[in-house]
Order: sequence, then structure tokens, then C-alpha cells
Amino acid sequence: MAVLTQRNPGSKAISVTKSTTDCDVLIIGGGLVGASLACMLENTGLSVQIVEAWPLKSDVQPSYDDRTVALSWGSRCIFEGMGIWDAMADRVEAIKTIHISDRGHFGATRLRHDEENVEALGYVAENRVLGEVLYDRLQQNDRLVLHCPAGLTGIEQNTDQVVASIEQDQQHKTVNARLLVAADGVISQVRDLLHIGSSAQDYGQAAVIANVTPARPHNNVAYERFTDQGPIAFLPMTGRRCSVVWTVPVDQAEALMALGDEDFLRQLQQRFGYRLGQLEQAGKRQMYPLRLVETTQVARNRVVIVGNAAHSVHPVAGQGFNLALRDIAMLAELMSAAKDPGERNLLQSYVEQREDDARRVYRFTDSLVKIFSNSNAPLGHLRAAGLIAVGLIAPLRHQLARQSMGLGGRASVLGRRSVNG
Ligand SMILES: Cc1cc2nc3c(=O)[nH]c(=O)nc-3n(C[C@H](O)[C@H](O)[C@H](O)COP(=O)(O)OP(=O)(O)OC[C@H]3O[C@@H](n4cnc5c(N)ncnc54)[C@H](O)[C@@H]3O)c2cc1C
Repeated sequence: MAVLTQRNPGSKAISVTKSTTDCDVLIIGGGLVGASLACMLENTGLSVQIVEAWPLKSDVQPSYDDRTVALSWGSRCIFEGMGIWDAMADRVEAIKTIHISDRGHFGATRLRHDEENVEALGYVAENRVLGEVLYDRLQQNDRLVLHCPAGLTGIEQNTDQVVASIEQDQQHKTVNARLLVAADGVISQVRDLLHIGSSAQDYGQAAVIANVTPARPHNNVAYERFTDQGPIAFLPMTGRRCSVVWTVPVDQAEALMALGDEDFLRQLQQRFGYRLGQLEQAGKRQMYPLRLVETTQVARNRVVIVGNAAHSVHPVAGQGFNLALRDIAMLAELMSAAKDPGERNLLQSYVEQREDDARRVYRFTDSLVKIFSNSNAPLGHLRAAGLIAVGLIAPLRHQLARQSMGLGGRASVLGRRSVNG
């Protein structure tokens, strides 16, 4: 196999093949989910290749952008099991309390880490930081082949392998893989090439995100404030900042994007209130239209679809990446125990074992959006009553905390390993 070395922006040397190659697992998309899966497969003996469309440190790289992700406690356990938690622990902020309230109504609830006997309910990580940690780890793996930036031009599914055609630096390459994993995001080219459909539910909402510095310290509290237009989340970040995810109808999101920083902060303050004192500074804003997108088929003939390509959920409860991480931890576990990572029974078993968790997450996020982004007055009173009930009744709080911590359902071996919680 001819191997040449290409320098990626900001990276050390990465091996790139120039001819037809064989591998066990070919991952299309080296974003948060694809790169995490490649790390999980490191010690399984399986040969792995990744095709990633964008240079890793480019401004347009869609996975490692300015967003943050609220990692659940369960995701921390998975990262610990993978051996990369230590590399990120100093660069994330713990969520010790989650404060949930409904603007204009009495009733709030607090979920607390000490009630759940864990060090934190979750952690806030910058997507860029996660990308750096994942790729630092991948670069230590001599066997991994990364094609980047490279594009997929075709896929052929056979009984015993998948043949992927890719293009890099105007050269064509062919990769024969026993399993192809589509981790290429919500607008998945793999799904398109294989004519796998998807269902989409448009919420008519968009998330405007920005990092904001308030006058008062966040004290590791994550605020989820529901308003009649959509939820606002203030997530604690390092350096006294908060990561704001402000969900509003699409036309209002466009108007918010067009405001100057001062006017933006004034409107945000008006909707969120003064729990964190005066909002003093806002970083760059970005806008993401929100839809619930679900693939019609998760696995088919040596191809499996993961991450946003499989299901993209509303960010209201910070569940999307956490769900994907639980999915791929299970996939990696099944693959490590199998002779053939693409065999039909393995993929069938993966689909069956992961179905319930995904359904639970869809129901949880979808009902939060529908119940809480609503100005109907009787519903408002019910919501308030619900929040008070959850605040007062410990088992209800515990159930909500476990869902937020990503601890519903059977954990993979990676998720069960380590951690004192
Ligand atoms: C505003 C917002 C806030 C969020 N907050 C949270 C949160 O707090 N907690 C949480 O768990 N989740 C959160 N999420 C969800 C989380 O961002 C996603 O689950 C996660 O980004 C999915 O990662 P992915 O790798 O599947 O897809 P992506 O991040 O879209 O990455 C896809 C990768 O594939 C590459 N690619 C695309 N097409 C091709 C191709 N044809 N060939 C090769 N490569 C290709 C792309 O360049 C990219 O690197 C949030 C989402 C949004 C929008």
C-alpha cells in the first residue's frame, strides 16, 4: 500500500493512502461522532479509515465550531472508558445544579449533583476542544488512515464488503471496507447515495448561540428557562462565561442575528432576567435551524448510520451528542467481540439494543419543546404545577435527573467502566 504524508492545518503528520485499500471499518465524517467512534475502536485490532470533507481547523468545519455541548454524566463515563477524559477534564466546566423555570409563571425545580451522588450532573465542553482532544488521540494511532479533506463519490454494497469511491486532491481512491459507518451529519450524503430516506419535523424554530459573560459567577448552575417563544439555556463555561442557546421562531432568530451586541444583550436580559446579574459581554453569534430528523433505516447491508445522520434532535435538553455517544459505544462493543464488524446479526443486534434509548430521547425532547414553547394559558398553569411537583417530589426529580444525566437504559461496557458515581 502506497502511503504518503500530508500536513493538515495545525496537526502533526497524518497518513494518507493514494491507491485502493482494504480496511475493516470506513467512517464517513470525522466530526464529533465519527472521530469518537474511531477512538473507541483503537484497541479492538480493527483497521479503521476516516473520510472527512473539511480541513480540521478550517472556519467552515461544521462539527468543531463555536458551539458547546453539555456532556451528560453518562458521556463522561464513556470518555473515561476510552481513556481520554483526563485530557479534557481541565478544559470543561462542571454542571452541579440544573435550574429549570418557566418565564411568567411560578414554579421552578432544581436538580442537584449531591442528590444524585455524583461529582457533577454533566459538563460543558466547547466543540473545538473536543475536536482537539479526539484528534490528538487519533494521531497517536499509527494504523488509522485519515482522508482529509476528501469527498465521497460513490458507494457499492456487496455481500462481503462495501466499496467506497473517494476523491482527494483531484485523485480517485477506492476503499474496500467490511463495514461503512455514515457519520456525515444531518444532510447525509451516504443516505442520499444509498436512497435511504429520512423523516423530518420542522419546529419552525432556530437556536441562536453565543458565549456571554454575566456580572455574577455562574457557580456551576445550568439554567434552563422556558418562555412562550422557546427555551433559553445558560450553561456554565470556563472563564466565568456562559454558553447561551436561545431558541426562538426562525424570523425572530434572524432579527436577533442582525442586532448589535448591546441590543442583543438587552433583549436577552429581558427574556432571561437577572439571576446572573447584568449580562456584560457577548461573543460571536451563530444560528442553527431546528428540526427533528430521523433516518428511516439505521442499518442495511454492511452500512450503519450514526450521529446526526441517524437522528438529529432539538438541543433543548442537550441530548443529541450524548445519545450518539451511547449508540457508538454499543456499536464499538459489539464490533470488538465479532469476527466480522459488518455482519448482519451484529447490525441487527445493534439496532434492537439502541432503539428504546432513541425513542425515549425523541419523546423527552419533543414533549419539552411542545409543552414549553407554548403561550396557551391553561397549559402554562399545568406547566407551573408540573415544575412545582417535580421540585417537591424526590422520585420525580431523580427520574428527570437520570434522563438528563444520560443514564436511562442499558449502558455499554465503555459507559459502565470506571467512575465513582
Ligand atoms: C445549537 C445546538 C446545541 C447543541 N447542544 C448539544 C448539547 O448540549 N448536548 C448534546 O448532546 N448535543 C447537542 N447538540 C447536538 C450535537 O451538536 C450533535 O449531536 C453533534 O454535532 C452530531 O455530531 P455528528 O458528528 O453526528 O455530526 P456533525 O457534527 O454534523 O459532523 C459531521 C461531520 O461529517 C463531515 N461530513 C459531512 N458530509 C461529509 C461527506 N460527504 N464526506 C465526508 N465528510 C463529511 C462534516 O464535515 C463533519 O465533520 C447541539 C446541537 C445544536 C445545533
